[in-house]
Amino acid sequence: MNNTNEFRWPDGARTVVAVTIHVDGPSVQIGRGENGLGRSSRGRYAIRRGVPRYLEMMSRLNIPATFFVCGYDVETFPDLYRQIATKGYELAAHGYHHENWDLGDTEPALLEQTHRIIVEITGQSPVGWCSPSGRKSAYTLPVLQRLGYIYDASEKDRDEPYFSDDKKNFVILPNNTVSLDDFPVYESGRALASELLDMWRSEYHAISQSEGYLQLTIHPMAGDGSGPPSRAAVVETFLTELKAEPDVHFLNMRDLARHCLNNPHHWAQAT
Ligand SMILES: [Zn+2]
Repeated sequence: MNNTNEFRWPDGARTVVAVTIHVDGPSVQIGRGENGLGRSSRGRYAIRRGVPRYLEMMSRLNIPATFFVCGYDVETFPDLYRQIATKGYELAAHGYHHENWDLGDTEPALLEQTHRIIVEITGQSPVGWCSPSGRKSAYTLPVLQRLGYIYDASEKDRDEPYFSDDKKNFVILPNNTVSLDDFPVYESGRALASELLDMWRSEYHAISQSEGYLQLTIHPMAGDGSGPPSRAAVVETFLTELKAEPDVHFLNMRDLARHCLNNPHHWAQAT
């Protein structure tokens, strides 16, 4: 048992849990040049059913959450995103068209465009970002820092937060600590929701005995996501079990980043 975690997380918690909801709406299909109809409508499911379902669930369970959102979706469905902000949840940036390709010289303008859309429509100024494809470039962090961001959730190279430079004003919050509920599990993995629940339980158990950092990423879309009722029920079961753990502390990503920035001696600096 690792007692050092008791001094790293708020309230002496052994494990901190950050729920991140990746709203991969129609931006994904439109960005790929699809028409959004038929099998290409799974992103619209996230807007119509998935996000309302998770807003209700998070409210009922009284759990904070961070919604990673795409600029195209925010400007197309402004009322839904205003509602997320009004209910007190964090909005963070996740690309404009959920770009799954290298952006080259256009990356700074796209990061700024999505940032501006979120601010203007919801009134909330994002401080966090997760690459929609996991792709980053030499542009990414300098632009994010210039826009006032304090964390990036794109990396998959550690089990706990770390600093990416010597300024210690920007923290990396890796997003690969538990199995993702989209393509790897439900599409290429062909797993059942019950199997994902088993994986999450065992991953939590191992994490609670080690670094104590659990970022749970939820995709509220249909298809290879946790939007539909039976898969959302599995998410609720897992979250309910985590809530019953006496030494688990829930934070949104913004508050988690601030906690890390305010306690820099606990976190390594990567080169
Ligand atoms: Zn995404």
